[in-house]
Amino acid sequence: MGLIKEMEYRPLGRTGLSVSALSFGASPLGGVFGGIDESEGIRAVHHAIDKGINLFDVSPYYGITKAETVLGKALSGIRDKVVLATKAGRITMDQFDFHKANIKSSLEASLRRLKTDYVDILQAHDIEFGDPDIVLNETYEALIELRKEGKCRYIGMTGYPLNVLARAAKACDLDVILSYGHFNLYNTLLLSKLLPAASAKGIGLINASATGMGLLTMKGLTELPEWHPADQALITACRKAVKLCAENGADPVNLAMQYVYWDERIATTLVGMSKISHVDRNIKAVEDRPDPALLSAVLGILEPVKDSIWPSGTYDWSENNV
Ligand code: NAD
Repeated sequence: MGLIKEMEYRPLGRTGLSVSALSFGASPLGGVFGGIDESEGIRAVHHAIDKGINLFDVSPYYGITKAETVLGKALSGIRDKVVLATKAGRITMDQFDFHKANIKSSLEASLRRLKTDYVDILQAHDIEFGDPDIVLNETYEALIELRKEGKCRYIGMTGYPLNVLARAAKACDLDVILSYGHFNLYNTLLLSKLLPAASAKGIGLINASATGMGLLTMKGLTELPEWHPADQALITACRKAVKLCAENGADPVNLAMQYVYWDERIATTLVGMSKISHVDRNIKAVEDRPDPALLSAVLGILEPVKDSIWPSGTYDWSENNV
């Protein structure tokens, strides 16, 4: 139990929630990174809770409801021990519905799968795929109404392009924003492009994908999911960085986690997990600060692809389009 004392907890914006600086991304429970052993996934959730992780993030989209179903089974009887976050609006890879009726019915279905009558955080999922006129009005209203009804305690939005998230932060009174792929070893744009506006409004920032959705893992040397959006230059640079870690007897995931975990400006970083061994390794990793020599060498390798981004979304979110 000693490790629980080591876990950092930080305030999530002005929500009053105190969340573990390392948090549990449940997308792998839906098999999005390859098949999973459901019973091991459930044990991984229990193990994470025992070790002090208290924020669990899921979505009906992950494994097309599978991740929520597995997480719901895992949390049966212990739901109140965690800060539970889910999402609505993204249905499949290319199907989205941000209208009020769908946001509401989506949450009802999520609550059934998660075996609870409320979630702590409900977020509109990947808003760059929605019409800003709908997301910033109808979707936002749905979130507010659900919060009033007690079906969620806090509301937020998630997505990839930082200009889209910044516009949502400005237009709506959100409790949290989840950003991914913009704060890791090869990209720190989250700190300059969203953190100042979010902090000014008391919005809690949840960071995701410290491994670049698998890019900075040993597995990423040979295998990446088909949907992975990174371009070849980024993949090549990350593989070079992973190899350098391996040659130095270091796990690249450890360095990736340490780099984000110890930056107190960000409340928490989600890491996708479905295995007990990954939970243990990630918790153990963040007991230490990054090795300065290895970090500097890895940052040097990644410098040519620093702040790499990829296009995401189907609507024009520039300020003057509505
Ligand atoms: P990630 O960078 O956390 O990478 C997950 C991958 O790393 C998985 O393949 C996992 O098995 C592997 N991994 C984890 N720990 C490991 C270890 N110690 N050793 C080796 N491999 C390890 O990417 P992610 O899962 O996409 O992001 C984390 C979470 O953030 C997601 O599960 C999800 O909950 C959330 N997220 C949300 C959005 C959104 O709302 N738009 C987008 C991305 C991520």
